[in-house]
Amino acid sequence: MPRCTTPQTLSREIQISGRGLHGNRPCSVRLVPVANPSGLVFVHTPTGTEIPARAELAGDLVLATTLLKEGVRLQTVEHLLSALAGLEVEHLRIEVDAEELPILDGSAAPWVDAILQAGIQALEGRRRFMKITRPVEIRDGNRWIRTLPFDGLRLRYVIDFPIPALGRQSRELSLTPDKYRRELGSARTFCLAQEVDQLRARGLALGGSLENAVVFAADGPLNDSLRYEDEAVRHKMLDLVGDLALLGAPLLGLVEAHAAGHAMHVALVKAILADPSCWEWTEEAESAEVRFFFQPLVAQPA
Ligand SMILES: [Zn+2]
Repeated sequence: MPRCTTPQTLSREIQISGRGLHGNRPCSVRLVPVANPSGLVFVHTPTGTEIPARAELAGDLVLATTLLKEGVRLQTVEHLLSALAGLEVEHLRIEVDAEELPILDGSAAPWVDAILQAGIQALEGRRRFMKITRPVEIRDGNRWIRTLPFDGLRLRYVIDFPIPALGRQSRELSLTPDKYRRELGSARTFCLAQEVDQLRARGLALGGSLENAVVFAADGPLNDSLRYEDEAVRHKMLDLVGDLALLGAPLLGLVEAHAAGHAMHVALVKAILADPSCWEWTEEAESAEVRFFFQPLVAQPA
């Protein structure tokens, strides 16, 4: 399935309501199609503040991606951004009536289903890609993320948790809308059972439950079942797709992440934007059909 070469919005409006994961407050979101390519722009309706989904407005990246502008915060934007970027819908007005987006089932699947049901509409013009021409890397001890030249968008992610239920998981894929929907979009957010009390004490995850997150005890999930055997690393890739949307344009490159998270994802995006010698604009998506298929990394000894 080749990448789309025209900018896209939705065919019609979507409205979705729910509660925030961290604040547990109600929130209603309206996705409104636009007539011309204008990027993904949030509108905080109580104040009328327009907040473009851009890395320079991202802050407060502990456990979620938050956009901040003129004293207005929009928390946990990454799963909606991931669904939109994964399905190549890059031009939309996103009206939000509270400060945290609904967590829904903890994955991007409810957004994906709603977007596909509403339909996707092509806009005039050509889609412009940011094509990586030189490596960019962010490193913090043995956690790191980097991007390298690649003819397409390929993601490679490794997580390594010191509990047997999670352990080391790795996955790699070349992203297309269809693969996004099948392989990443349904993966739910997760945490460790041992972290839950600490999170709550800090006023985080107040809306969290087994209905919207996978909670891992040492020997397995507290939830009845997993959606994928390696659901956790897939969710990290889902988050990465959402955070890469903060570039403001689709990326052509290989992105490799090792034990990273929102802060490192966004640091990479900011580093790419800050160094135009590492990338160039192109209107060509990858020339061939996707050349690689699933290829789990061989686990390396720690
Ligand atoms: Zn997430």
